[in-house]
Amino acid sequence: MRDINFLSENNAKPIWHPMAHPAEMRASPPRVIMQGEGAMVTDIDGRTVLDAVGGLWNVNLGYSCDPIKQAIARQLDALPYYSGFRGTSTGPSIELAYELAQWFEPEGMVRSFFTSGGSDSVETALRLARQYWKIRGQADRTKFLALKKGYHGTHFGGASVNGNANFRRNYEPLMPGVFHTPAPWTYRNPFDETDPAKLAALCARAIEEEIAFQGADTIAAFIMEPILGAGGVIVPHEGFMPLVRDICDRHEILLIADEVVTGFGRTGAWSGSRLTGVKPDFMTIAKAITSGYFPLGATLISAKVAEVFEADKTSFGAIGHGYTYSGHPVGCAAGLAALAETKRLALNENAAARGAELATALEALKTKHAAVGDVRGKGLMAALEIVADRATKRPVDKKTMARIADAAYDAGVMLRVSGNMIILSPPLIVTAKDIATIAEGLDAGLAAAG
Ligand code: PMP
Repeated sequence: MRDINFLSENNAKPIWHPMAHPAEMRASPPRVIMQGEGAMVTDIDGRTVLDAVGGLWNVNLGYSCDPIKQAIARQLDALPYYSGFRGTSTGPSIELAYELAQWFEPEGMVRSFFTSGGSDSVETALRLARQYWKIRGQADRTKFLALKKGYHGTHFGGASVNGNANFRRNYEPLMPGVFHTPAPWTYRNPFDETDPAKLAALCARAIEEEIAFQGADTIAAFIMEPILGAGGVIVPHEGFMPLVRDICDRHEILLIADEVVTGFGRTGAWSGSRLTGVKPDFMTIAKAITSGYFPLGATLISAKVAEVFEADKTSFGAIGHGYTYSGHPVGCAAGLAALAETKRLALNENAAARGAELATALEALKTKHAAVGDVRGKGLMAALEIVADRATKRPVDKKTMARIADAAYDAGVMLRVSGNMIILSPPLIVTAKDIATIAEGLDAGLAAAG
């Protein structure tokens, strides 16, 4: 690799970064991360900080997981790639699909369709949902319902079901036939309802109204994150997802649970659906499936959907969809090792225990700092909303958010800023001491807000 000066000189020059303005990046280049160990990362200037972002919600096992590294190396030696398109398969993909069916047995998942990441998994679920209805002779069921503030990746399908204007506007027109209903977000919602259970009921009623308006027999599926991640860690009341399941059942609408963030323990349970006992028709997973060590995702398929495809006698049953890297053997080998470690270390339990400590620390910060308008979270996914005025909930500006993140970094903690929110999703291997460090970093950052 070229030397450090070369990297610094070329930082943000020949590369365009995701979710960023190219000119802004050139003017203010990003931190170059050079190394990772445990839950810590070291930048190009040699500064080591605790990664409270966990890569991007994905590095659940931290940066030093030898079993994953070794599994990748072994698979590279044995077979670095072979296709899973009709006619050939590979050992790790068969084995990982088998493991995933065990892992998500309580959610009723029986099949895996492998992808290269979360956006691919969402795209796959949307396509298979439409195809399901074609096989069943209800070709009019093509529409999708989704929640405002939901995030479902960046492909055209995913962007279309996305509920955030800033991921949609520059790319319109998006896919027609997608309709959004309010998110059960107590801090900001159109009903001015702060009681979580009442808000869940109101949001469920809005879904019912939209279905009545569209006509149930035109709707293929409803997609939702059990806990909305990128939209600001919006934690619905525990009754909400069961209400959605019930509505979908009554109207025969498929339910897609987007578990790209919530899968594999981050919430304290092995999935967001499992938190409330809901069995979706599809689940989308990615990120922590390899702890971020290799790009991989999957769309998981329930028995109900699998039966329709596997018993198909129409001309609609063949899956005309897939990726060169569907079932990549190195990715699947990484996934097998990551899942084994995740289970061995009971990361779900650590996420629940450390998450409780984090929640207590965040409440204390809210008491201490007037700029904290709201704190929320579940397990090791959490958000702080930073406001200029608690009464009006007016968000602070970009500069203030940058000051907070910089001051926290100087205090030894990497934070992620999204709009006026600080998003926390540390590796699930963090200790009680790490949670205290994150709280100290936030405290230092918030002190710089005013
Ligand atoms: N769905 C959800 C819920 C996500 O949070 C994300 C990514 N943060 C995606 C889909 C897209 O995943 P990817 O970035 O791997 O394409």
